[in-house]
Amino acid sequence: EAPVEEKAPVEEKAAANVGNSQIDPAKPMVALTFDDGPGNYEDRIVAALQKYNSKATFFYVGTQATKFPSTVKRVADAGNEIGNHSYKHENLPKLSQAAIESSINKTNEILRNQSGQSVSLVRPPALRATGQPSILWSIDTLDWKTKNTKNTVNVVLNQVKDGDIILMHSIYRQTAEAAELIIPALKERGYQLVTVSELAKARGINMEAGKNYSSFRPKK
Ligand code: ZN
Repeated sequence: EAPVEEKAPVEEKAAANVGNSQIDPAKPMVALTFDDGPGNYEDRIVAALQKYNSKATFFYVGTQATKFPSTVKRVADAGNEIGNHSYKHENLPKLSQAAIESSINKTNEILRNQSGQSVSLVRPPALRATGQPSILWSIDTLDWKTKNTKNTVNVVLNQVKDGDIILMHSIYRQTAEAAELIIPALKERGYQLVTVSELAKARGINMEAGKNYSSFRPKK
């Protein structure tokens, strides 16, 4: 007679395959985040994540997504979280409330249609409250400025702590190269690479609309 297998309750997620299949809340974890895409380097970054059973969060710009619709779907289908980085990278504080809402809502719809995920997180290009949780960061790699693979790798590996949200930009070749080095190095150090939503949840934080989050440290 075959043994009866006890099944864990199925968790409800935004889309069937978003996030890691298993997270150990007792072990360290960080969220890699990639802004400004989609662009030409998504597939390299996603391949590096998949190779190490890892996930990340990609904050996409609406106008970019319309240029790379199949890319958004591939990134999402690999289990990564898709977030909103405005419609055309507007300076949100300079816009009216109605224009901000239009930029965010339009982009949510584009990303939801392309990815099949509901999009709940925003990374505003310039800080301004929206009707969704705003995700900031605790490590700024300045990858967009240095465009230097080694520098980006060093910033992350020298500063990383449990609960960090790490800011990078997926539209640069040097960032894709850096990701290919950072991902195995963090895994080697025992970090789980999780989506922003997974990180918040593992730390018992229920993210709220209009609030800013820049890390999710373990509770002491
Ligand atoms: Zn940006």
